[in-house]
Amino acid sequence: MTTKCRTYVDVLTQHTEVTGSTLLLIIRLSSGKIVKGLIDCGAFQEPNYQAENSKLIIDPKQLDFVCITHAHMDHAGRVPLLVNKGYERKIFCTNGTAEFLPYALHDNLKIMRDKSRRNNEKVLYFAEDVNKTMQLIEKKEYDETFSVHPKVKITFLENGHLLGASLILIQIEDEENVNLLFTGDYNNKNVFFNVKSIPQWVKDLPLTIVTESTYGDKTTQECLEENGGNNFDYNIIEASKENKSILIPAFALERTQEILYRIRCIQEQGYLKDYSVYLDGSLAIIYTELLKLGRIKNLKVQDFLPGNFSYVVNSVMRSEIINSRSNKIIVTTSGMGQYGPAQIYIPEFIVKQNSLIQFTGYCAQGTYGRKLQEESVYSNTVKFTAEFSAHAKKDVLLSLISQFSDIKAVLINHGNNEAKLKFKEYLEKEISKNSYILNKKIGYRVNAYGIMKELNTIN
Ligand SMILES: [Zn+2]
Ligand SMILES: [Zn+2]
Repeated sequence: MTTKCRTYVDVLTQHTEVTGSTLLLIIRLSSGKIVKGLIDCGAFQEPNYQAENSKLIIDPKQLDFVCITHAHMDHAGRVPLLVNKGYERKIFCTNGTAEFLPYALHDNLKIMRDKSRRNNEKVLYFAEDVNKTMQLIEKKEYDETFSVHPKVKITFLENGHLLGASLILIQIEDEENVNLLFTGDYNNKNVFFNVKSIPQWVKDLPLTIVTESTYGDKTTQECLEENGGNNFDYNIIEASKENKSILIPAFALERTQEILYRIRCIQEQGYLKDYSVYLDGSLAIIYTELLKLGRIKNLKVQDFLPGNFSYVVNSVMRSEIINSRSNKIIVTTSGMGQYGPAQIYIPEFIVKQNSLIQFTGYCAQGTYGRKLQEESVYSNTVKFTAEFSAHAKKDVLLSLISQFSDIKAVLINHGNNEAKLKFKEYLEKEISKNSYILNKKIGYRVNAYGIMKELNTIN
């Protein structure tokens, strides 16, 4: 570790695991001027982290800028809380993120209101805070470099995790230059668009990388084997041969549309001829319409809707579908079965012999989906698959990081403790000895040469 440098950045987080992603940057320039910014301000969705939601890592009035990596609520869900507490400056994100964000935030507000009514808690923010948040948003193109201070530049880079998702590059151009790259949640590929490679000029920068590590302990192959394999098509086709009713809980944004596209592909192979396909969930329907209308960008896959397809528009229609004897596939939210119409469908389907409930994503601890995963009594009816994951696994994360030619240090966050530790081992073996685990208690002071010192941040 070097000891003296006049330009440095303190990197601090509020989150320790895969939830509530909030990174605070305190940039100290050689003039002594301080610039403060936030990368993401996510909601803590896991039941055991609820107390964190009302806490903020900094008084928002002190912030000079806020950037959002992508529109998932574990990264953007508390941005309106910053506004509620007095943040009035710009909020930067990509065009795609800005397109989805108002719907995602209003939906999150609805979930929060229901929860607070049930548990007699205070809501964190109101509809007017969401509206004000959207007024503060400044949309940016990928690869467009802009300044938040004469010496601080930011560039959003394309990321396959989600439509609109980005990696964020922060360049501090002072007496000594400090460059930081934040991966956000990362994936190298996407069903709906081709992911552009990272520009060469970024690969050549001396860089400290702050990386996610959700699956930092497993390879793509290991992850598949552990979580039910590559079996979605097989499960759906087999269930349809027995005329089973099929329920598919899916995340509203992108996963739902990917599942609809897969159903369309299965139909094109000649299956599901006598099946009706339904989508239930207001946010999922809005996103499906946005994608269908091509509002986001030129998509690789534009015609993704299956045949025999309808939206479920009200509870009367929902009851009719549940009670009808005809063959049906219902794609519904939420993906973990915890919220939305999935809460109504799952109890109906779980007691029926002739049904399949096919989960399509990660189910967090404490959710309905996780409970079903743990109770083997349902193993014939309830199936899981990991093939749709939007997160890069260890092998892909390592190949992302290995593209950079001058890595000063790597800070590992957004993973559970075991994933972070294992990923640190792999990184040190294969890429950089200067790897550190970032969490709520330990931040780092970063300068042009890497890590200056560890910062204890217990509060
Ligand atoms: Zn995400
Ligand atoms: Zn995340």
